[in-house]
Amino acid sequence: MSSLAGRVALISGASQGIGRACALELAKQGATVALAARNVEKLEAVAAEIAAAGGTAKSFALDVASEESIKAGAKAVLAELGTVQILVNNAGITKDGLVMRMKLSDFEDVIRTNLTGSFLLTQALIPAMMKSRWGRIVNISSVSGETGAPGQANYGASKAGMIGLTKSLAREFSSRGITVNAVAPGFIQTAMTDVLTDEQKETIMSHIPLGRYGTDADIAAAVAFLASEGAGYITGHTLDVNGGMYMG
Ligand code: NAP
Repeated sequence: MSSLAGRVALISGASQGIGRACALELAKQGATVALAARNVEKLEAVAAEIAAAGGTAKSFALDVASEESIKAGAKAVLAELGTVQILVNNAGITKDGLVMRMKLSDFEDVIRTNLTGSFLLTQALIPAMMKSRWGRIVNISSVSGETGAPGQANYGASKAGMIGLTKSLAREFSSRGITVNAVAPGFIQTAMTDVLTDEQKETIMSHIPLGRYGTDADIAAAVAFLASEGAGYITGHTLDVNGGMYMG
C-alpha cells in the first residue's frame, strides 16, 4: 500500500513511543519521513528500522521547546527534503503534580513543549504546505485535555490548548487545501505511562470499556487515516482513540 507515495511527513518526538509508530506507519504508506527529536542517536535507530522495511527516513535534531531550534530544524528539513506536506505534532512531556505544589516552571515547561512547540513548528512549516496547496497537520492531544485529570493541570491545559489550536488552524488554512485535526489518545502503553503505579493503571483500566490499554500502533493508524487523501473532508476534528474511556 502506498497511498502517501510522494508525500513528505515530519513527525516530532519520533524517537520512541507514539511518534516512532507514526513514523513507521507513514513510511509504510509511502511517505518520506523526517524524524525529529532531541536525541539523534535514537532517531537514527528508527531511521534504520524504516530503511530496513524499504522506506525512506532522515533524522533531524530538533528541540520543540526552543524557537531557534525549531527554525533551524525546519530549515534543515526543507533544505534536505524540499517540502513538508504532513506534520505530526507529537513531541510531548508530562511534569505531573498537584496544583498546590506545582512549580511555575513545571507548568510553563509543559505548555512550552506541548502547546507552544506545536504552534511554532506549524508556523515554520505551513508556508511549504501553502506552496504545495496540500497539507495535513495532525496534533497529538490527549484524553486529559478533554476530561482533565488530577495532577495534570499543566498537561491537561496544554492538551486542551492543542484542540483549540487545531480548530483555529483548521479555519485559517482550509482555503489552502490544508486540513488540521487532532488525535486524543487515551491510555497508551509507552515510556510516558510506564511511570504510573500499578494502582493508577488499575483505576484507569476500570474506565476503559474495551478492556485493554491502547498501543502506539492504535494511534498511528488514526494519524495515517487523517493524513490520507481519503480524510480530505475532515478538518478541525478531534479523533478520540481511547477504547471508549471518554466519549465526547
Ligand atoms: P514518550 O514515549 O515519552 O516519547 C516522547 C517523544 O517526544 C520522544 O521521542 C522525545 O524524544 C520527544 N520529545 C520530548 N520533548 C521534546 C522536545 N523538547 N523536543 C523534541 N522532542 C521532544 O511519549 P509517548 O507516550 O509516545 O507520547 C507521545 C505524545 O502522545 C505526547 O504528546 C503525549 O502527550 C501524547 N499522549 C500520550 C499518551 C500515552 O498514554 N502514552 C496518552 C495521550 C497522549 P527526545 O527526548 O529525544 O527529544
